[in-house]
Amino acid sequence: MSTLLHICCAPCSVACVKTLREEGTEPTGFWYNPNIHPFLEYKARRDTLRQYARDIGLELREEDDYGLRQFTAAVAQDCDHRCGYCYACRMEHTARYAAENGFAAFSTTLLVSPYQDRALICATGARMGERYGVEFIPYDFRPRFREGQEEARALGLYMQKYCGCVYSEEERFSNRRKKELHKLHKEQGRGAAQC
Ligand code: SF4
Repeated sequence: MSTLLHICCAPCSVACVKTLREEGTEPTGFWYNPNIHPFLEYKARRDTLRQYARDIGLELREEDDYGLRQFTAAVAQDCDHRCGYCYACRMEHTARYAAENGFAAFSTTLLVSPYQDRALICATGARMGERYGVEFIPYDFRPRFREGQEEARALGLYMQKYCGCVYSEEERFSNRRKKELHKLHKEQGRGAAQC
């Protein structure tokens, strides 16, 4: 089945592409992430993915849109619930691109991260899939998250320090948020969140 794989960053793609290839699916990567700010961070993640895709022979399509103004305008009134918009705009663009370019299905590397809201991503993906007439596949890549991150580190890929938007960059330095994350990681026996 021809599958378009939305990719949030190269490190997260490592385990996802590996899993799909082992299952006999050769995905086509898709870069569309207007949620990553500021521009140098956006460029670092995009360029790292471009290089990694070349290295592993992965076809990569792009909607190269640094969307700071549009993204922040859309979420500014309720920035504590911004992730819903963030998932929706990325899943919508991926579903539309998949439909317009003859893909049978789409999915996203966001589903590798134990720190993202899986239920919301899956519900959003399914909704966008219905809207554009293309199947959303709710892969669960999470069991290989650590392995993928370790491989990415060993390969020397650029590893981001925060999820993407300016708000998540702010939270990286917020004492309150640090405490919440520390509590969560302690409960789950994990290290610090990268994405
Ligand atoms: S925290 Fe991450 S998922 Fe949520 S809005 Fe920001 S970039 Fe998007």
